[in-house]
Parts: sequence; C-alpha cells; structure tokens
Amino acid sequence: MILHWSSRSWVSWRRLLHLRGSSRGLSCSATLSNTGGASSGLQDTADTVIIGGGIAGTSIAYHLARQGQKEVVLLEKTDLTAGSTWHAAGLTTTFQGVVNAKRLHYYSLNMYSHLAQETGQEIGLHMCGSIRLATTPTRVDEMKYQISRSNHHEAPISLLTPEQVLEHVPIANIDNILMGLYTPYDGHVDPYSLTQAIAKGARGYGAKILQGTGVEALKLREDGRWLVTTTQGDVLADRVVNAAGFWAKEVAKMAGSDLPLVPNHHQYIVTSTVPEVKALKKEIPVLRHLEGSFYLRMERDGLLVGPYESVETMRQCEDWVRDCVPKGFGKELFEPDLDRLEPHLEVAMELIPCFANASIQSVVNGPITYTPDVLPLLGPDILPNMWLAAGFGYGIVHGGGIGKFLADWIQTGEPPFELNECDPLRFGSWATDDYVLAKARESYGMNNAVTFPHEERFAGRPTCRVSGAHELMEKRGARMHFHSGWEQPAWFCPSGGKPEYQPSFRR
Ligand SMILES: Cc1cc2nc3c(=O)[nH]c(=O)nc-3n(C[C@H](O)[C@H](O)[C@H](O)COP(=O)(O)OP(=O)(O)OC[C@H]3O[C@@H](n4cnc5c(N)ncnc54)[C@H](O)[C@@H]3O)c2cc1C
Repeated sequence: MILHWSSRSWVSWRRLLHLRGSSRGLSCSATLSNTGGASSGLQDTADTVIIGGGIAGTSIAYHLARQGQKEVVLLEKTDLTAGSTWHAAGLTTTFQGVVNAKRLHYYSLNMYSHLAQETGQEIGLHMCGSIRLATTPTRVDEMKYQISRSNHHEAPISLLTPEQVLEHVPIANIDNILMGLYTPYDGHVDPYSLTQAIAKGARGYGAKILQGTGVEALKLREDGRWLVTTTQGDVLADRVVNAAGFWAKEVAKMAGSDLPLVPNHHQYIVTSTVPEVKALKKEIPVLRHLEGSFYLRMERDGLLVGPYESVETMRQCEDWVRDCVPKGFGKELFEPDLDRLEPHLEVAMELIPCFANASIQSVVNGPITYTPDVLPLLGPDILPNMWLAAGFGYGIVHGGGIGKFLADWIQTGEPPFELNECDPLRFGSWATDDYVLAKARESYGMNNAVTFPHEERFAGRPTCRVSGAHELMEKRGARMHFHSGWEQPAWFCPSGGKPEYQPSFRR
C-alpha cells in the first residue's frame, strides 16, 4: 500500500530503505541545479518571503522552490540554524499520538532518507529504531491502545516483550520493563547538517537564502502585499511566512498581532565514551523511558540523555512571553541545571547501569518553543497573506513534513490533508499570557504522561469563556470538558453523585 499525500512526491515505506541505497530522488516540478552556491543580494519583489532559517523555514523554502515557485526568498538574521535548530538532540520518530500529524513525521523520514543522495550533503541520519518503554500496567494499556490506532498507517510499529527489548539493547536492565513499543525507522539526525542539506536543495531549485538579513518591520499594503523591511533593504512580498522560531512572537508583533508561544528550557546531557557502549556490535535503538520521562540514545561511543522535567520543576522564559526576547539573545544557551535532571538521571542509571559510571562531557540547555497544546501553528494567519510555521516542540522531525504541507497549501490554495489540530487560529484573545504560560508548562511537564482517550487537562482553566449557565450546570452535576477556551458540560452525574474525572482505557 502507498500512502497518498500528493501523488507526485509521496513514497511508500517499502521504498524507504531502497531509496537510501538508490541514486534516484523523488519526482518534482523543478529541477535541481548543480550550481547551488549561496545567493546574495535582496531583490525588490518576491512571491514568498520566509522569515527564519531554522529547519522549518528552510524546509518551506525547499518545497516551494521544488514545486516551481519562482521567487522564493528566505531571510535569516544571522546564520542558518541559529535559533533552536543547531543544538537539538536530533531525534526523529514515526510515533505521533495525533493521528493526522503522523503523516508529517512519515514524510520527514522519507525525505531525510534520500536527501544526502539528492543534495550530496551528508546529514548524519541514523535509522536505529526506537523503543518506548512501559513500566506500569496503565502504560501497557496505553501502548495497546496506540497500536490499535496506528496499524492503518504504513510505518511499522510493534510491541516487544522485555526479553525482546534486551535483544535490541544488551546493556539494559529489564527488571522493571513490562513492554516495549518498537518503531524501527526512528532514530536521529544531525540537525545542522540536515538544515544545510535542505538549504542546498532549496538553492538548487532556485530559492534565495540570504543570511545576515534580519527583518525589522512588516507593513501590509492596500494591495495585500507585504512590505518587508530588512537590515539590507526592502522587499515587496505577495506573502510572508513567519518561521522565526522563538522569535516568531516578535515577528508577529511587527505585523500587529501576537502568537501564543512560550520558550521553555530543555536540557540534555552527553557523556564521554562508555566502554560498554563502545563494545556494542551495533547501535541500540533510541529509548524513551516514559515513567522516568527521558529519552536516551547513543552519541558516538557515549550516551545522550534528555529528560522532560515535571510541571513543578521545569523552567520557562516568562519574561520573553510578557515582554520580549532579550535583544542580544542569539545562539546562546542557558546555564545547565543538573539538579532538575537528577531524578530522571537516576532512573536512566537503573535502566542502563553502565550510565552510572559515565562522565558528563557536555550539557545543552536551550529554548524550545511550545504552544499551549504543543502542536505547531501551521497555516494561514488571520492577517491577509501572512502564514505561520512556528511553535515546534519537535521541529527536527516535523521539518520535512511541515515544509511540504505548507508549500502544497500555498501552491494549490487547499491544505493537502486535514490538520485542524495545527490551525493557527485555534487560539483567540481568550488565550491570555497567563493561560499560555500555564498550559505550556503543563504540556512540557506532562510530555511523557499517559494520554487517555477523552483526556482532560486542567491548567489555565477556566478562561474567560464561561457561559452564564456554568455555575448552574455545575450545581446540577456537570463534569466540564474544555473546547476552544470554553467550559462545556461533558456529562452529568446522577443526582447525589460526585462527577469525578476518572480517565481509563477500559470504558
Ligand atoms: C535542547 C533541545 C533539544 C531538542 N531536541 C529535539 C529533537 O531531538 N527532535 C526534534 O524534533 N526537536 C528537538 N528540539 C526542538 C527543535 O530544536 C525545534 O523544534 C526546531 O529547531 C525549531 O525550528 P524552527 O525553524 O521553528 O526555529 P529556529 O531553529 O529557532 O529558527 C528560527 C530562525 O529564525 C531566525 N530569525 C528570528 N527572527 C528573525 C528576523 N526578525 N529576521 C530574520 N530571521 C529571524 C533565527 O535567527 C533562527 O535562525 C529540541 C530543542 C531543544 C532546545
């Protein structure tokens, strides 16, 4: 079976490994030029101006140019990858709880697997697979539920016994493992090289990528075009794509709007060589210990471990949300804070005992941009001819897919498939800074929490969207459900009962 997104460029998973070893790229409208050098000089007009040269903006430029759009201009204020992209851990996965968004992941992995051949630029892609680990009975239920919702997609996914986990990960202690969920085409990629390869491809298809060109002002003209003022002069654009990462809120302000984005701190550590890791015959799959809330993968002969701290201990850039990103902040990282990671690292030491003897080589603590629900803002903004591609908590794995999705939409006037979950307009003025901060905190802290069907999450509620009958309904036993900022009755408890929230996989 072949998954169809666009008949021109989707490939089946069966071809994926073949593509890695084949000299053929995918079919497309434009032809890759082999001149491919950096373009320079700002032109007067453009079909599309993309603001931001991270993985998102670069992928959009690549796909628009590849589909034949003539004047695609990407403006990057410093260097490509200078935001969150350069320091990402590079994990890629086909696993995604939101069914529609799975296709973004599938497309990215397909695209990345042929990119080196297409562009001649290595991207450090390791398709070592990944295993999500269950250590509680509820987590086992969740994995069975996830499998039941996944098998209509072509990316393979299967359950593993603890013994099978050990076969894949000979250095693991499986004492507490009840089950594994295995996705064989997952792995990791070098985000810097990946972005450079996509940029090379974009240039080859005719896009202009201008580094050292910061956007300073945006003005909507009466004819619907945007006057984009940059440090290198002005350009008049038929449309603008805001792909400015954790600066996207600042760019939105230039156009007179605001975006519900929160930069959170996210950390991972890298160890020096671990003899037991070095002695392995092949790379182990990426591990995700869900109760311990961390990912773990090999980094050369050492290990890389990235925890998601709890709702209470994680940190946010609250002043960036309420005020602005500090003017001088560029490629900087935050101070590492190992105390926050300690409980997670202890679980990692139980799981991989040789990790306990490893010495830490480096700690990366950088800004990761969250929306309240951790899904990106992807599509047209409320302002005419303004498009959004921002708020990526998993931008490296989303990058390829979102570039194709947005380019298809821009080129044809229709989204290639239903992805309402990422509609940028799903938040309104009801999503205040307080709400956005509370929700982004909850989403980050619960990154690895069990996700139940019809789940309710309570941070930031209620918003101002409460109906006049709210109190009366609550008195009459209503259990409230949250939708688009509104508190709505989900069900009523029979008289005398208390409407407790009891999520379950068994109803
Ligand atoms: C520690 C850490 C680990 C991570 N690990 C992973 C992972 O394993 N897998 C994964 O999928 N994701 C991971 N992420 C998330 C990932 O890094 C981001 O989702 C992704 O890099 C976002 O890409 P972007 O293009 O949206 O933004 P960015 O990479 O931030 O790019 C935005 C660009 O816009 C430019 N810009 C801003 N303002 C302007 C302006 N006015 N004019 C011109 N240019 C401008 C900036 O200079 C920047 O280069 C991680 C994040 C962190 C912090």
